[in-house]
Amino acid sequence: LSAVRWNSTNVAPVDDEGYKGHGMLAPFTAGWQTTDSNPLVIEKSEGSYVYDVNGKKYLDALAGLWCNPLGGNEPRLIAAATKQLNTLPFYHSFWNRTTKPSLDLARELLGMFTSNEMAKVFFTNSGSDANDTQVKLVWYYNNALGRPNKKKIIARTKSYHGSTLISASLSGYDVYRNWFLLRVASPHYINILICQLHLYCTPIAPIIGDIIFQVRLKRIMGAGGVILPPKTYFEKIQAVVKKYDILFIADEVICGFGRLGTMFGCDKYDIKPDLVTIAKALSSAYMPIGAVVVSPKVADVIYSQSNKLGTFSHGFTYSGHPVACAVALETLKIYQERNILDQVNRISPTFQDGVKAFSSSPIVGEIRGTGLILGTEFTDNKSPHELFPPEWKIGAYFGAQCEKHGMLVRVAGDSIMMSPPFIMTSNEVDELISKFGKALKDTERKVEELKHQ
Ligand code: PMP
Repeated sequence: LSAVRWNSTNVAPVDDEGYKGHGMLAPFTAGWQTTDSNPLVIEKSEGSYVYDVNGKKYLDALAGLWCNPLGGNEPRLIAAATKQLNTLPFYHSFWNRTTKPSLDLARELLGMFTSNEMAKVFFTNSGSDANDTQVKLVWYYNNALGRPNKKKIIARTKSYHGSTLISASLSGYDVYRNWFLLRVASPHYINILICQLHLYCTPIAPIIGDIIFQVRLKRIMGAGGVILPPKTYFEKIQAVVKKYDILFIADEVICGFGRLGTMFGCDKYDIKPDLVTIAKALSSAYMPIGAVVVSPKVADVIYSQSNKLGTFSHGFTYSGHPVACAVALETLKIYQERNILDQVNRISPTFQDGVKAFSSSPIVGEIRGTGLILGTEFTDNKSPHELFPPEWKIGAYFGAQCEKHGMLVRVAGDSIMMSPPFIMTSNEVDELISKFGKALKDTERKVEELKHQ
């Protein structure tokens, strides 16, 4: 009998120095990046730090992808996964069969929505498929109510809701979305400059009202992110949504589980959503898992109409995966036992004030944030804000300087984002601020150089 053999000689071996030209079609990466330069290959994590294959240590100022509040090598999460793997590594949740960890997790999650009662949880593998689920669920709900034409979604510019076809269509950047979407402006400070901060909410609410009137839009996607809503923004949006009987979906993929200093972003902004999307921090990223949390209003329709509707024909092989659910359950237990909100609120003032102290830099347009999330935007001028020529790649240069100084941040054009792990010590927060300052100085020098070329 011949042995099974693989032939991967046409791609660089993984032990090649630098891994350039590797065989992975890398997500959110340009092809030329993988052929022209070496990827950063991360090998291990320890608390708030990650290490690359060459042993270089980085402070992970983004907690992976905003998703790992408990940092690396948390022994309890490793133990929870191991125990579940040893007992039941997999069973599904289709056809009224399921597993105990998924039932326990659903129960635990519902108990966390204290200011806005929720009724059911649908498990997914990520934020993207959770947002796809939201759309199907809302259509299903409206079909059940005999309103099959109520199908439109409103999301906002500058939002991100995922990468699958529907969730990418909901996302408010051209590079992510395709055709069928209508969106309204986000309360970004450059927009606010046009209509003044305190006036901004007043014009935007009737705009949504008009859109609904003209094209019969039925729902609004709410989104978190580093663009902070002005004071009365959500109050006004919720009033319009209510008036037109539109379901409100809150995407808590980043804000959920404490990042803003409240358990959910909705608690901070007094939002009462009909549906909530969660993922990332739900398992502190130790296992992939997301979920849709459903209010009684929506659940009642689905359950009361189930004789007419038949099977809820939506689900994933790994919906409610027992290992992911066991890890998520342990994560929630840790949040509670370690009083994670107190921890976030203890370190976030130093984080916010320390980084915002750099706002006076001539290349900083705005530093904005709350809790443990911050965005910095580089602009050429303070007033009016002028963007740097895109070919200068100022954001990317700043990101590379952070990397040089041993820190990882998220770069998006000339915006930089940070969302550190909740477990950061005060010393680590100081280190983050100091590294941010060094990278900023390097970038200021680079801008001067480019201006005099
Ligand atoms: N919604 C928001 C607000 C997100 O930030 C993200 C991911 N960054 C998603 C949805 C998609 O989640 P995932 O990458 O797990 O599919």
